Amino acid sequence: MKRVNIMGVPFTHIDQDGFVNLLDKRIQERKKTFVVTANPEIVMNAQESDEFMQLVHEADYVTADGIGVVKGAQILGEPLPGRVTGFDTMMAMLERSARHGYRVYLLGASIETIELAHSKIKEQFPNIQIVGYRDGFFDWDDPAILQEIKDANPDLVFVGLGAPRQEKWISQHLDEFDHGVFMGIGGSFDAVAG
Ligand code: UDP
Repeated sequence: MKRVNIMGVPFTHIDQDGFVNLLDKRIQERKKTFVVTANPEIVMNAQESDEFMQLVHEADYVTADGIGVVKGAQILGEPLPGRVTGFDTMMAMLERSARHGYRVYLLGASIETIELAHSKIKEQFPNIQIVGYRDGFFDWDDPAILQEIKDANPDLVFVGLGAPRQEKWISQHLDEFDHGVFMGIGGSFDAVAG
């Protein structure tokens, strides 16, 4: 897949619908996938932290989370097809999950927010299989939490811990899973909870 380098961040050259179709296919093929949805703040953070830049390079796909990145790419003479946001990708993948029976895990935000986001998602997609959810203020060294997520056997894990925490969590735990799409989605659970 074509990549576009913007200030060292390797963006995937794809539009929103194409990306949703691609993730859907990856789930069906059980190909483990790490997605970074990069907004301008993430691009700037990567300039300041080698560790974060390295995490971004570990991802299978880096998408342009917002018009700021698309505009920036255009100015730099490296145009991208359009924005591919964490929120829109999550909503579209929830719809696909309800349709195809994918197992979804929600990780992040406060307890109140994730509970509300969970019930709003169930309301919008009654057939969806949410195989677990947990707030984002947990002890990273507690092995029971990772075990719980592994036991849920998810096809999709949305991780909303804010950047760079969510990318670090995915990178540190990806080896423990044999399949699944893992995607950092920033504050999207807050947006769903409303
Ligand atoms: N968050 C979390 N655990 C933490 C810190 C933040 O789950 O230890 C959640 C926070 O509640 C919010 C989300 O991460 O739902 C995004 O936070 P923020 O707005 O700071 O990140 P951004 O959207 O800018 O990436």
